Amino acid sequence: MNETVVAELASWKGPRAYRMQPCSREIKMLRPICGVCAAASGGKKYLPSLWFETCQHDPYVTYREVTTPTPTYEPVDPEVPNGAKKVVRVEDIVTIEPRPNWVSTSLAGGLNKGRGVERALWKGFIYPQSLRSPTYPGGIKRRCQFRDCLAEDVKRFTNGWFCREEEAKLVAVSDSETTYQVSFDARSDKIQKGQLDTVQVRT
Ligand SMILES: [Zn+2]
Ligand SMILES: [Zn+2]
Repeated sequence: MNETVVAELASWKGPRAYRMQPCSREIKMLRPICGVCAAASGGKKYLPSLWFETCQHDPYVTYREVTTPTPTYEPVDPEVPNGAKKVVRVEDIVTIEPRPNWVSTSLAGGLNKGRGVERALWKGFIYPQSLRSPTYPGGIKRRCQFRDCLAEDVKRFTNGWFCREEEAKLVAVSDSETTYQVSFDARSDKIQKGQLDTVQVRT
């Protein structure tokens, strides 16, 4: 019997947004980058337009070397193994850390809705779920669609996928083009809070 092993969407712990202001929705995608293909073409600007379709060098993930100096200790007095210790050598332990090549594409409402994403796909950008990399054979989990938020513990709201309801509401405020109360003192804080309370984003 043949069993197809379906790889699961991988986790990649990303930072959460810290600036909580109205902003348009941002789709997180992955951009292809390949030094090998670029060098073979005589430079990045000479890459053929669909180079990423034939690139065999894992172009959506960048691998970074992380060096950790790691000391080895020995007891000062071999007769007292649990006593004071001295550093006998320090070795640089190198680990390779993958980082997906994240890019954000704004998905504002109105006439241009979806254009940015269309253009991004044409440039070879992909959704993290469709990534096929030796490190992430089944792709990576989708990201939060709030600006600068790469969190992956997302929930579905009426206007997209977000990690926090407040983020979904701020995007809804931005899309409705309502003037948002700027928070500068306790009173305006309260008005701002009241404004967000009226936004309905639950599915
Ligand atoms: Zn390549
Ligand atoms: Zn988020």
